[in-house]
Amino acid sequence: MSRIVPFNFRCPSCGKEEKKEIYQSVNVTANPELKDKVLKRTINAISCPACGKNYTIDEPLLYHDMDKKVMIYYYPKKMETQRKELEEELKKTMSKLPPEHTAKIKTKIFFDYDNFIEEINHL
Ligand SMILES: [Zn+2]
Repeated sequence: MSRIVPFNFRCPSCGKEEKKEIYQSVNVTANPELKDKVLKRTINAISCPACGKNYTIDEPLLYHDMDKKVMIYYYPKKMETQRKELEEELKKTMSKLPPEHTAKIKTKIFFDYDNFIEEINHL
């Protein structure tokens, strides 16, 4: 299933604060309609309720395709310094799942959204 989490939005332009929701993971097998939004980077777009400006929220996102057996992670560039920890965490997560589920699953981590999209386009 795709996963939506609460997000405290603060408009960089007018300062308005608002509780919003963003996608933390997208399962395109369960929600194929979300794939296009990931590719267009509108999946976590928020428009400010006060001034109407549009923002793309730069937060981690997991792209999960159960048919193609891939889990592709996007992390904001600023998190690249934590690459080792993130990779360790991913390994731990995978090791907790039953092996028959994880054996064939390919995982990848990207810190650049364009590269993340390119990978999805080439699945
Ligand atoms: Zn605003």
